[in-house]
Amino acid sequence: MGFAQSPYGGVVLFFIFGLGTKQKYLGAGDVRACPRCHDTTQWTRMRQFKQFTLFFVPVARWKRQQFEVCGICGTTVAA
Ligand SMILES: [Zn+2]
Repeated sequence: MGFAQSPYGGVVLFFIFGLGTKQKYLGAGDVRACPRCHDTTQWTRMRQFKQFTLFFVPVARWKRQQFEVCGICGTTVAA
């Protein structure tokens, strides 16, 4: 007589969480002259924020900022 004890006995608690930076495309920005490559093109409007997810569900967002990106050299300017 006897009984085996599971090596995983008890309650197993686990969390799946993530931390990352998300970028969202907002559409076409202004046509402007780039301070870096000195070309005048249409810029792209983007929004970026830090995100914390728990079980793939976003639970917190912070440090939100909006900016425009030069289509030629990738320089960003706060919008
Ligand atoms: Zn540029």
